[in-house]
Amino acid sequence: LESAQIIAVGDEVLAGETVNTNGAWMAQFLMTFGIRPSLQYIVPDSLDAIEAAVRRGLVEADLVITIGGLGPTADDRTVEACGRALCRPLTVDEVLLERIRSRHSHTAGWEASARRQARVLEGALLWPNPRGQAPGQAVAEGSGWVILLPGPPREMQAIAETHMGPWLRERSGGTIHRDAYTVFDLGESAVATHLGPLLSGHHPKTGIYAQPGRVDVRIDTDDSAMGRVLRERSRAWVMTQIPAPVYELAGQSREAYLIEWLAEHAMTIAAMESLTGGEILASLISIPGASRAVVGGVVAYTDAVKAQFGVSQAILSNQGAVSAACAEAMAIAIRERLGVDVGISSTGYAGPDGGDEENPVGTFYVAAAGPHGTVVRRRHTPLDRQAVRRVAAHTALSAVWE
Ligand code: ATP
Ligand code: MG
Repeated sequence: LESAQIIAVGDEVLAGETVNTNGAWMAQFLMTFGIRPSLQYIVPDSLDAIEAAVRRGLVEADLVITIGGLGPTADDRTVEACGRALCRPLTVDEVLLERIRSRHSHTAGWEASARRQARVLEGALLWPNPRGQAPGQAVAEGSGWVILLPGPPREMQAIAETHMGPWLRERSGGTIHRDAYTVFDLGESAVATHLGPLLSGHHPKTGIYAQPGRVDVRIDTDDSAMGRVLRERSRAWVMTQIPAPVYELAGQSREAYLIEWLAEHAMTIAAMESLTGGEILASLISIPGASRAVVGGVVAYTDAVKAQFGVSQAILSNQGAVSAACAEAMAIAIRERLGVDVGISSTGYAGPDGGDEENPVGTFYVAAAGPHGTVVRRRHTPLDRQAVRRVAAHTALSAVWE
């Protein structure tokens, strides 16, 4: 079994009243068995729609999974629709019928409803439902299978985990390995360009996901010997070809990485901020566990405060507060004052007014002073005041890694 289609059944799912979390869950579940869904969609509680979807699925995939519509009411039509799609009769499963009967008091009309719910596809494997009535059903058709699961997420997941999982393990080609990376300071399309050959073809299968402030890259390879080779090669490619910082633990913010990295190296950090006004420290401290690395800092907005905390008067009068020399002096000064491993700083013109010929509005300098020296960066961003400050905070944080 290699390919699968997932069909969520239900008017309320189609209408968006119920969010199709079952589809997302099942897709991830299948991936752990090395089965990649090739398509998933939502169909209404209609015999024709379900039948057509299952027929199509059987032509296109090894595994067709329907989720929902196994209940006892008139709008639960999945069993009947699958019977039609597979040209297979339905039978009442006596064991199941007894079980359903024993769980309920017999009210008028109950027997008919119980018999309805006890219908299964002839020859189906039945997977008991530990949390409800309707069992899962698996029916072989040619070289493929149709699997029917109930809609309530707890029931669907319980059947999938206890019965479908072991069943799949016997039939699937192995697991998929996922390597996840995060790239900072580069846009989505630039990342795509640099990934080049990794993006064409199905093995490895590469995905690029733009997130606020970062781009996540996921590379999936299979269990085979070829998969191992491709995994090594893609890793080497990502680490050498992308001209920006790449981290191998995707899914976290830049601040979280920095804290993690500093803590791992038993290093501390402090900031002297002018332009960013505390934003650098605020973003670091927003990360749980920030105390493992963050010591504190100073918002040194005026020249007087910069001088008070160790920036020399000569720099302030000669080069000025918005200069590489001042950013460097601020980072070094806070590093020494607070006795930390890394000092960072920001200074610049956020606008809308101010700036000069050499440093127009939107120009900023950030610096990171560490045990091996100081990195200073100058950038000009033609953005509004808050955006300039945000970009400066990001730039200062990534300067720490250089
Ligand atoms: P029941 O016996 O409860 O009727 P069923 O197999 O007929 O089970 P549905 O009627 O399709 O399943 O759905 C039952 C409930 O399960 C829905 O009301 C909804 O809350 C939830 N559900 C159904 N489909 C989905 C889905 N795709 N994603 C998330 N939840 C779902
Ligand atoms: Mg139902």
